[in-house]
Amino acid sequence: MLLSEGDVAPLEVAGPDGPSPFLIICDHAGRLIPRSLGTLGLPAAELERHIAWDIGAAGVARRLGAALGAHTVWQRYSRLVIDCNRPLEAPDSIAPRSEQTVIPGNQHVAPAAAEARARAIFHPYHDEIRTALDRRQAQGRSTVLVAMHSFTPVFLEVPRPWQIGVLYNRDSRVAKPLLRALRDEGDLVVGDNQPYAVGDLTDYSVVNHGERRGIPHVEIEIRQDLIADEGGQEAWAARLARLLPLVIQGY
Ligand SMILES: [Zn+2]
Repeated sequence: MLLSEGDVAPLEVAGPDGPSPFLIICDHAGRLIPRSLGTLGLPAAELERHIAWDIGAAGVARRLGAALGAHTVWQRYSRLVIDCNRPLEAPDSIAPRSEQTVIPGNQHVAPAAAEARARAIFHPYHDEIRTALDRRQAQGRSTVLVAMHSFTPVFLEVPRPWQIGVLYNRDSRVAKPLLRALRDEGDLVVGDNQPYAVGDLTDYSVVNHGERRGIPHVEIEIRQDLIADEGGQEAWAARLARLLPLVIQGY
C-alpha cells in the first residue's frame, strides 16, 4: 500500500451536481508526497518549485468551477510521484529528472512500485473523471472538458512571453474560439499550442477523456507568476468564467 493512515485521498471534488456543461479538471494541483516515499530524496525548496506541481492552477480551477457552477476534480499529489497527465508507459510518467533536477526517489523504480503509485493516485483520479463523464452521458447531458494547468515563466533559462496558452490536438472545437476570444481581450499574449502542444505521449487527460470519447475539450496553461497569489487566481478565474460560456454557444 502506497498511501497509509495520515495520507490524504488523491483527489478532491467540488460541485459534483453543478448545472454547468463544463467539467473542470486539474491534474497537477498538489505537491503532496505519500509518507512512505519521504521527500523522494529532494530538499524542500525543490518540492516548492514548478517541477513538483502547477503553481496556482488549483486556485484557478476551484474558483473557475465555483463561478461556472461546474463539477471540478483536482489531484493533490506531486506530479513527481506519478504524473497524472502522462500515459503510464511514458518515460516521464515517474520522471527520473525534471528540468535540471535529478529526482533520487525516481531512479530505477521497480515495476511493482510504479504500479503501486498508479493504483493509489493515477487510477482513482482518472476513474473519478471517467465516472463523471459516464454519468453525464447517461443523463444525456453535454459536457465540455477543461483541463487547467500552469507553466513556469522561465524554462531552462528561456523566458516565455505568453500569459496564457490554449492547447489542443485533433479536436479544436473549443480551442479555436477560445483563442479568438482571448486575443480579442486586447491585453494578452496568447499561445496557440504554446508553450506546449497536446500529444498522445505528452498528455493523458484530454486525450483519453476528451479526444477519444469525442467530448469537446481544451487544455489551458496560465503563466505561474500571474496566478501565484489569490488575487491573480481570482482575476484569471473570473476572466475564463466570462469567456468560456461564450465560446461554447451552439453546443
Ligand atoms: Zn500541468
